[in-house]
Amino acid sequence: MREILLCKYGEIVLKGANKRFFEDALCKELRHRAKKHGNFEISRAQSTIYIKPLDDFADIDGMYESAKRTFGIAAIGRAAVCEKNIEDIKRVTREYIPQFLEGKNSFKVEGKRSDKTFPYNSMELSQLLGGEILDAMHGKIRVDVRKPEVTVKIEVREQAAYVHAGQISGAGGIPVGTGGHGMLLLSGGIDSPVAGYMMAKRGLRVEAVHFESFPYTSEMARDKVIRLARTIAAHTGDVYVHVVSLTRIQEELSKKCEEDYFTLLLRRYMMYIACRMAANHGSKCLITGESLGQVASQTMEAIAVTDNASTLPVFRPCIGMDKEEIIEISRKIGTFDISIEPYEDCCTVFTPRHPRTKPVLEKVLAEERKLDFEALANEAISGAYTIRAEAYQ
Ligand code: ATP
Ligand code: MG
Repeated sequence: MREILLCKYGEIVLKGANKRFFEDALCKELRHRAKKHGNFEISRAQSTIYIKPLDDFADIDGMYESAKRTFGIAAIGRAAVCEKNIEDIKRVTREYIPQFLEGKNSFKVEGKRSDKTFPYNSMELSQLLGGEILDAMHGKIRVDVRKPEVTVKIEVREQAAYVHAGQISGAGGIPVGTGGHGMLLLSGGIDSPVAGYMMAKRGLRVEAVHFESFPYTSEMARDKVIRLARTIAAHTGDVYVHVVSLTRIQEELSKKCEEDYFTLLLRRYMMYIACRMAANHGSKCLITGESLGQVASQTMEAIAVTDNASTLPVFRPCIGMDKEEIIEISRKIGTFDISIEPYEDCCTVFTPRHPRTKPVLEKVLAEERKLDFEALANEAISGAYTIRAEAYQ
C-alpha cells in the first residue's frame, strides 16, 4: 500500500492575488525539509499539497513530523493511494482504515468526487465504503452521521483516489520567509525562543544574535543557546546564530558608568548591535522576548529607553503574555527544558542592585556619553562569529 501526506493550507487561501507567492514559498520550504527524509515529490492542486514518497527509503514518518511543524499548513493527514476504480478503492479502504477505528464506537464516511467523470457520486461512495468498513470491522463499530468519533474520507481527484481517516491540525501561520527576515535577540531564557517561534509563525525567516560575556559566561551557556536555536529550527527552519561578545563593553560600563544604569546601557548596546547585525544580514526588524512589567528593564519607561537605541521596528510578541502563557508555548515547542538549565547569562553579570524602573532618557544618554560608544560597538561586531543551527532530525 502506498501512503502519502495531504496538507491543507490555512490563511494562504485568503491571500487573493498573492496566493501563488505563498504557495510557492510553502512548497519550497517543504522541499527543503524533505531532503533530510529521502526522495519525495511535492506538488499541489486544489488548495492541497501532496507529499509523495518516491521510493522505499523515503522516511514518511520523519517527513510527517517535519511537515506538522511547517508554518502555512492548517491541517495534515496521512492517506492511502488508490487506483481510480471502485474495486481498488474498496480493497485499500478495507486494509487501511480499520487501524484508525480500533477501540472507537462510531464513524462516518464522507465521499468527495472532484473528478466528475468517476462513475460513483459522493453519496454513493460514502454508502458503498461505509458498508465495506462495517464488514471489515465485523460489526464492532456503528455508523453515526451526526456525531461520529472518526470521519473517514474518500477523495476521488484527478490523479488518483485517496482514503484517509481524518486530519490533525497543522502548525498554522504563514510560510517562513514570506514576510522577510527578522533578527531575534536570543538569550538562554524562556521568552526569546518563544518570541522567535511566534514571529516565524507570522512569516518571518528568523536569524539570531546571541550576546555572551566570556569568561563571565561559559561555553556551556553558549552551547545551551545553540541547542535552543536547533530546537526552534524544527519550526522556523535552520537558524544562523551570530555570537557577539559584550565582555569589553560590560567591563567599560562597570568602570565608567553609574551602577543603576548598567542594565539599561547594556540593553541599548544589544539593540544597537543587533540593528547593525541585521543590516549586515538582510533583516528588517528586531525580535525580543520582552514582556511588559516582567523585570525592571521591561517597564514601559525602560522599553522606551532601549527602543531609542534601535533604528528598526522591534517586535515583542510576548509583550502582553503572562509568564505561564509563555511557558506553555515553550513546552509545546520543546524549548522549556533547555531554557531552565542553570547557566549564567550576560545580563546576570554586573547586575545593578537598584536598577532604574522609570529611567529618564536624557540621564541614560548622559551616562552613555561617558563611553566611546561607537568604537566599543565596532569592536564587538568585528569579533562576531556565526554558527548555523540546524533542526535535529
Ligand atoms: P528571556 O527569557 O528571553 O531571556 P528575560 O525575561 O530573561 O528574557 P531579559 O534578560 O531582560 O528578559 O531580556 C529581555 C530580552 O532581551 C530577551 O527576551 C532577549 O530577546 C534579549 N536578550 C537578553 N539577553 C540576551 C542575550 N544574552 N543575547 C541575546 N539577546 C538577549
Ligand atoms: Mg534573560
